[in-house]
Amino acid sequence: MRNSCVESACDCNSFIIVDGRRRPPSDYRDSFHKLGELGVIPKELVSKFIPLVSLRNRIVHEYETIKNELVYASIKRVSRLFRQYVKLITEYIRGNSKQRKYKEVNLVTAKLLDGEALAGKIKEGLKKEIEELKRKGITPSLAAVQVGENPASRVYIRNQRKSTEEVGIDYQLHELVETTSEEELLRFIEELNWDSKVTGVILQMPVPGQINARRAQMTISPSKDVEGMNPVNMGMLVYGQAKVAPCTARGAMELLRSSGVELKGKEVTVVGHSEIVGKPITLMLLESLMESPTPTVCHIATKDLAQHTKRADILIVAVGKAGLIKGDMVKEGAIVIDIGINRVPLLDEKGNPVLNEKGKPKKKTVGDVVFEEAAEKASYISPVPGGVGPLTTAMLLKNTVECAKAQKQVQ
Ligand code: NAP
Repeated sequence: MRNSCVESACDCNSFIIVDGRRRPPSDYRDSFHKLGELGVIPKELVSKFIPLVSLRNRIVHEYETIKNELVYASIKRVSRLFRQYVKLITEYIRGNSKQRKYKEVNLVTAKLLDGEALAGKIKEGLKKEIEELKRKGITPSLAAVQVGENPASRVYIRNQRKSTEEVGIDYQLHELVETTSEEELLRFIEELNWDSKVTGVILQMPVPGQINARRAQMTISPSKDVEGMNPVNMGMLVYGQAKVAPCTARGAMELLRSSGVELKGKEVTVVGHSEIVGKPITLMLLESLMESPTPTVCHIATKDLAQHTKRADILIVAVGKAGLIKGDMVKEGAIVIDIGINRVPLLDEKGNPVLNEKGKPKKKTVGDVVFEEAAEKASYISPVPGGVGPLTTAMLLKNTVECAKAQKQVQ
């Protein structure tokens, strides 16, 4: 937890993009060298700032190694000075980038919605809550069911096991053979529904072709439905009384709320209307009449997508198409939540694909929004990776705890 505090202590809430890449504080030394060479900021300022960056990086590294309170105190002191310098330097960059004097450099004033840090805080809170539940004799316990072999869900299962164990949730994996019939799977799920030691059930996707995935998911008891996909729980979402809800939708809402911006009266455009993301987000936006913004939902048949995105105070995108939302489709000052996950080729500075040791193109993960362009307009923006993704896992844990509490009738 402290590690994320260390980073936020050094954060100046704005970031620079040099040569099309977002530069974190740990990368400031090289970036500011370049800015000095380009003449964006005076060289004397750079020569005073660089030793401070080195000092800051050294003590942050030392803190990460020995976790000493005294070192943490000196990080805070150095960070205060660091921030003063960053402020001064950003004034120079802001002046120059407004005049578009240097096309390589861009100061972005959008604040990053940091999903990793928020997920860390939520998990920390859940860990304490679970310790408390255990003292009352209640142990949240998640049963995961996997049918057949699937390399992608292997990774997902590994992460599930790690994150559940981190917060103190019991995790058991049930592996059924590839040839399991739908009837056999439904019976197995029913057994888990009746097992009083199991407080949550999750069915790993995808399932083999002989099984109707939706029917299998609907068999999970609403009281153990940690993914919030059972029609009963979806119905509670319509009533605005859901205890559990689809994890990604819930995660996106947590990230949006972390901006602290009041939602009431805002225009929201949700792009994508799937059952697991777009639709539940829209219902959550309408949860309370007193706080509700006004959502518009776009989909594949929407005639003029840009017309809707451009008037959105809050833009939430969950489609799965890299580059769908460009900078000119974003309203000045908007909050942008990018849920999309896309794998695209990694390009070098000249725009050629970067190859791996086997000669195959390397890939990187991006969202649906052209981040660098949207960040110039937005007031808050979530990155991909590191935005909604970590919160999806955190919300699975939260739903699991909610299910355990509801079954044992704990508030
Ligand atoms: P999905 O079921 O394929 O839904 C995509 C939605 O986008 C559909 O409603 C579709 O409309 C709409 N759409 C497609 N093209 C469009 C366009 N050109 N303009 C406007 N709308 C368009 O996908 P999903 O499961 O919701 O996931 C969406 C994205 O989020 C994916 O990239 C996925 O990987 C990512 N995701 C991320 C997380 C996370 O943890 N961060 C979790 C889940 C999903 P129609 O139905 O009308 O075609």
